[in-house]
Amino acid sequence: MSELYKKSLKQIRDLLANREVSVTEVVRACIERINTTNKQLNSLVYVAAEQALEQAEKMDKEGPQPDRALWGVPIAVKDCICTKDLPTTCCSRMLADFVPFYDAYVVERLKVNGAIVIGKTNMDEFAMGSSTESSYFGITKNPWNTKLIPGGSSGGSAVSVAAAQCFGALGTDTGGSVRQPASMCGCVGVKPTYGRVSRFGAIGFASSLDQVGLFASTTEDSAILLEAIAGLDERDSTCSTRPIEAYSQGLTGDLKGVKIGLPKEFWQAGGIASEVLGEAEKAIDAARALGAEIVDVDMPHIPLSVAAYYIIAPAEASTNLSKFDGARYGFRAEGVETLDELYEQSRTQGFGDEVKRRIMLGTYVLSSGYYDAYYKKASQVRRLIQQDYLAALQKCDLLLAPISPVTAWEIGKHSGDPLKNYLMDIFTVSLNLAGLPGVAIPAGLGVESGMPVGVQLLGRAFDEHNLLKAAHRLEQAIPSIGSPKL
Ligand code: GLN
Repeated sequence: MSELYKKSLKQIRDLLANREVSVTEVVRACIERINTTNKQLNSLVYVAAEQALEQAEKMDKEGPQPDRALWGVPIAVKDCICTKDLPTTCCSRMLADFVPFYDAYVVERLKVNGAIVIGKTNMDEFAMGSSTESSYFGITKNPWNTKLIPGGSSGGSAVSVAAAQCFGALGTDTGGSVRQPASMCGCVGVKPTYGRVSRFGAIGFASSLDQVGLFASTTEDSAILLEAIAGLDERDSTCSTRPIEAYSQGLTGDLKGVKIGLPKEFWQAGGIASEVLGEAEKAIDAARALGAEIVDVDMPHIPLSVAAYYIIAPAEASTNLSKFDGARYGFRAEGVETLDELYEQSRTQGFGDEVKRRIMLGTYVLSSGYYDAYYKKASQVRRLIQQDYLAALQKCDLLLAPISPVTAWEIGKHSGDPLKNYLMDIFTVSLNLAGLPGVAIPAGLGVESGMPVGVQLLGRAFDEHNLLKAAHRLEQAIPSIGSPKL
């Protein structure tokens, strides 16, 4: 029974529903696993052990409730998603003491479905980053090799799933923060269509790009989780009224006749490591062998996506983060005399370097005189990128693309050179600019590094159903990469 943590979400859910294990046993198994691995990995910044055990006992007394899809299943939640009575810090000194009095919509949904929040996961400060190195609570390590980064910004969630500390985790994807760490840690990551999942209670970074997404060890588990957290929520005005499909019921069929586009601007971009191409090509071959029609497509504006993203995202971040002023909530500097000093010192001491860099960049591109040259131009480029996606997805049912040009890199490799980190986002940010869904799945282990390589399937708006179906089929055909030895 001590190996319960090795089960998939679906397996554990079914064992719980049939009373073959108790919720308490499952929660204990996760806590034990966390105790033996978290010191080394630093994936969880808060472990809700007591609360989870208390809830487990209560649930065991009540007995299984078959209509609740996640009954008794421990799930981890990224630390920028509000959890009632549990710290929610965005891994920033600014919010280090913040304990929300309400749940984010997605956490409400987890609870309605019977899930247990087992802990809060580490992340880049305010979700700004690609490596989970900028957290106020220290760096998260990749479970496949602890000298390497796990990707980011939702690195803690990816690691928590890959290291089997929980059966699924929530993250956020503003420019790739679910898909990229999923790829680097060898798990499945889903970035839903903008508007599919409510952002209520997910602390905003760049509101026109942010989406709550999820991590799991299989596509089937991802479908179950997405079904649980998607839904109409009036508190997020961008939330769609479209009905939610039964994603977990639709994982059947094959890829015969499915037209998959390979965007040239992704695959022929310079700088993709040959070990990444090698594994990704195996995924393409697998799709072809399953009967998919593989075609090349042009998306001419993709090379502009990093430039556009790093104007739009900081612009929105600079306004979103203006509310942290030391006066209303969050960190407040001591020993100041004037109101201006309070603002200045609270923000100077409360935010880390990367967050400050983005606030300055964002304020600059929005300032009069520069607005037209930068922000307006970037918004125009965003429209062109959206049109590229629309055109490509008119020709094809879905697109298949790499996620990161390289596998996980050494901790500290890009510190002092933020631009290097930004450029690593070339394959992920355009999807957010277009507001479309993507599913990341493991393709293999790189022949040189031995580290996970993922690929992403990108689809039409609200086509998560077909994306997950295709991802599931591919997952069956690609040899499993196994789990990290811990
Ligand atoms: N790496 C990107 C950035 O730093 C994406 C972050 C995210 O998706 N939250 O902005």
